[in-house]
Amino acid sequence: MSTVSYNCVCGATLEYKQDLVAEGGGRTPTWLCRECRTPVPSVTAEKIKHQHPS
Ligand SMILES: [Zn+2]
Repeated sequence: MSTVSYNCVCGATLEYKQDLVAEGGGRTPTWLCRECRTPVPSVTAEKIKHQHPS
């Protein structure tokens, strides 16, 4: 299984669940960058949020 990472516009590399902040609730929260709160594309966020540092 490959690791997904996302390079945010602020320069942060988002790779793990804790790098994301969920905004809103329900079935489809918006996932934001932890650093600058820019929305992360949902397809990418869905993968990242299942990743944990090992
Ligand atoms: Zn950011």
